[in-house]
Amino acid sequence: MMTKLVFAIFIIFLTSCWGDTSTVDSSSDNYSSREIKGSDVENETYFCEYCGKKFHSVKDLAANLCKRHPDGAHGGKHKLYEGRVRKTYECVYCGKEAKSIADLTANKCKHSPMGGNHRPRL
Ligand SMILES: [Zn+2]
Ligand SMILES: [Zn+2]
Repeated sequence: MMTKLVFAIFIIFLTSCWGDTSTVDSSSDNYSSREIKGSDVENETYFCEYCGKKFHSVKDLAANLCKRHPDGAHGGKHKLYEGRVRKTYECVYCGKEAKSIADLTANKCKHSPMGGNHRPRL
């Protein structure tokens, strides 16, 4: 009786493992769309496109001056980054990648038309 039960658990374990490995490709689309949906609901954080600073409301973001504004430091307000949350952010001009908008926008971009900093792709 006991061995039968152990054997049954073993089979379930084995089939679930097989299921995981064989469905990775077909289910990856579903998984990524679910991940984006979840992060929209849970993380109510907004980023500035110029400096990557985090805000909990768009109102706060739009009310404060941005130290990396294209018109010069504190030359204007933060601009809401309207792209989606990513693992890496890529510069629209040169393709440089960084783990956060703050890291990406910290440096000047050689390919920026205005001689400004890197700018994250939306
Ligand atoms: Zn900013
Ligand atoms: Zn760049």
